Amino acid sequence: PADVETLGRSTWTLLHTIAATYPPKPTPVEQNNIRDFFRLFSKLYPCWVCAEDFQAYMKKEAIKTESRDAFGNWLCDAHNEVNRKLGKPIFDCSKWEERWRTGWKD
Ligand code: FAD
Repeated sequence: PADVETLGRSTWTLLHTIAATYPPKPTPVEQNNIRDFFRLFSKLYPCWVCAEDFQAYMKKEAIKTESRDAFGNWLCDAHNEVNRKLGKPIFDCSKWEERWRTGWKD
């Protein structure tokens, strides 16, 4: 349905933007904050089938919080897992910062 798509698009924008503003060298507190956020996000995301699959993904592929690069790539991989499930194109994760932080160079 259209609202699952609108919600999804807006939510990925929020999540990738959080990755873009996550510190290159996060403190232990900053790492805990992102873990807590994702633990709760995966329970509260208001598309219940999406949330269930995302929780299962996080059990399989533990969140990486040690740097912006590690977290941004983990999130890109998680998004690609959903892309794969929905038959959407796989995004080149070497370009996530260009897409979400620094802007496309053109
Ligand atoms: P989106 O997938 O919303 O992507 C938005 C933009 O992000 C793209 O235009 C592209 O520029 C960029 N992008 C694409 N892939 C990546 C990537 N890997 N890394 C970084 N940037 C990227 N929908 C369902 O129908 N079933 C589900 O089970 C489901 N699970 C979801 C789980 C989560 C956690 C979230 C946030 C959303 C989920 N959705 C699900 C919604 C779905 O992922 C899409 O958001 C929705 O279908 C709209 O797709 P879109 O084509 O506009 O692009």
